[in-house]
Amino acid sequence: MNEMASPLVSLDTLSVHYPLGRRLLGGNAVLKAIDEVSLDIPKGSFFGLVGESGSGKTTLGRAILKAAPISGGHVRFADGEVEYDLAHLPKAQLRDYRKRAQLIFQDPYAALSPRMTVRDIIAEPLEVMGLTANRDETDARVREIAAKCRLNLEHLRRFPHAFSGGQRQRISIARALVCGPKFVVADESVAALDVSIQADILNLLKSLQRDLDLTFLFISHDLSVVAHVCDYVAVMYLGTLVEIAPTRELFEQPRHPYTKALLSAIPSLDPDDTGQAQRLEGEVPSPVDPPSGCRFHTRCPVARPDCSQRVPHLEDAGDGARVACHYWKENLG
Ligand code: SF4
Repeated sequence: MNEMASPLVSLDTLSVHYPLGRRLLGGNAVLKAIDEVSLDIPKGSFFGLVGESGSGKTTLGRAILKAAPISGGHVRFADGEVEYDLAHLPKAQLRDYRKRAQLIFQDPYAALSPRMTVRDIIAEPLEVMGLTANRDETDARVREIAAKCRLNLEHLRRFPHAFSGGQRQRISIARALVCGPKFVVADESVAALDVSIQADILNLLKSLQRDLDLTFLFISHDLSVVAHVCDYVAVMYLGTLVEIAPTRELFEQPRHPYTKALLSAIPSLDPDDTGQAQRLEGEVPSPVDPPSGCRFHTRCPVARPDCSQRVPHLEDAGDGARVACHYWKENLG
């Protein structure tokens, strides 16, 4: 993608905070899972979201699906005539939004009911939302989306236990797409699969994106997978975004010290590559009591004294990239 398309989803200072009650930490402790995140997800893009476990990736995806409570800011969804602000979405419109935005689950083994046939699993969202007039219409839609997901139509009468992980994930994908969404959150959707099957599912997602004009938020801890499929990547650390860039730009010239550390940890296939992995010291701090100033300063290998005092905000860093670091220019190279 060269020119950035108009956003399908826009986050404006989105926060997801969970009050922990008065007895914890001697006061009104709050877990700041997402803290004032602003981001545009262009229409038709495959948008990657990466970060360590506990960074807030999954919560962010769920907030966009209205499956996590929005404590502050806005989530706008705009597709043609349809426009919603999810922070203030009336209940009556939630059902309509559910048709337009869906989740592909992480674990294809846990996501499918063992007591339902594949046909019934895929048909359930259509029936719950009352999107088809009768069983024939439902069956026709199920067969159509199953074929697009390259499922054998003979298998629709079987139960999930008869299938491998890759086939189960195709069933999960068909179920997520059966209502005709425009936006899909894929949360670690290939993480539980063998590497050979991962490539197969990623190719399927990319071809569905083109065929069905979908926009993906692809959440993953695996940067080599993200490099392979995504158009843009946003990097999360402790509930905030530290860098957003077109994928090639991010991998060729990471600007944020955290992004650099994540990338340096990817194993290289080049035997001549003697680059040293830049190990991040320590654990991700608690989102209940995040570090002052730059949240990364307690682990940043190039932190300076004032980094604990001043909060960096995302700023334009050229070539479509934005970075939240006071010293990204000094640290280039
Ligand atoms: Fe490191 Fe300071 Fe940049 Fe934060 S602002 S990433 S601590 S150099």
